[in-house]
Amino acid sequence: MLDRVPEKGLIDQLRDMLPIAIGDVAIGHRRTGLVIVDEVNGFATVGRGPLAPPVENPQVTQMITETDQLARAYSARGWPVLCFLDTHEADRPEPPYPPHCIRGTGDENLVPELEWLNFEPHATMIRKDCINNFVGSIRPDGSNAFVEWINVHKLQEIVVVGICTDICVMDLVLTALSARNHRLFTHLEDIIVHADGCSTYHLPKDVALEIGLPGHAAHPQDVTHYMGLYFMASRGAVLADRLVLAEG
Ligand SMILES: [Zn+2]
Repeated sequence: MLDRVPEKGLIDQLRDMLPIAIGDVAIGHRRTGLVIVDEVNGFATVGRGPLAPPVENPQVTQMITETDQLARAYSARGWPVLCFLDTHEADRPEPPYPPHCIRGTGDENLVPELEWLNFEPHATMIRKDCINNFVGSIRPDGSNAFVEWINVHKLQEIVVVGICTDICVMDLVLTALSARNHRLFTHLEDIIVHADGCSTYHLPKDVALEIGLPGHAAHPQDVTHYMGLYFMASRGAVLADRLVLAEG
């Protein structure tokens, strides 16, 4: 009888088919900024609305811990931090998503572990009402708060963390890579994505179908997280699984 080779899991198959380069990345040897995407209650605090984890989720918990440590290290060095906060008016929905992060509910504010950033002089907040943070940073007069933040600080690198890896984080990173190549930034060279500082949500297909959603609403966490990392890397982002910070 032949020995059976155990079947590879889907993530291992993806790693084979769509490999990503990821490793230690040294940061802070040039002008650096930290970008935190949507680590708000409505996405990352257990039980806070339809897009938050219904029960404790290890990937989300790890993201918050990594973000808190990183943000404290940046603040200690006087390096700038930018927080995007998903914030919606009650009468302006964001299809295909159910109502979330409505202004005034508290769901649109930073998770408790990061609330200290509201009092941090080196931190900037941008509230926005769409998935793509680059688009959400466009003011009525056409100026862009995100582009300005990068250029005012003459940033040469940004480190991006947040939720969701394959949605708001990915859209921002991909758009910013295009903007960099289009020379909208005065000094920006690299966009670094800290993988363990990112997370996404888990909605298995059977659950999606059971609650009446279409099949494409299926969103297995490990696969979509990996795919998000792959698409960012394939477009030119630098992926890190460990950041080594300069002393500042
Ligand atoms: Zn939203």
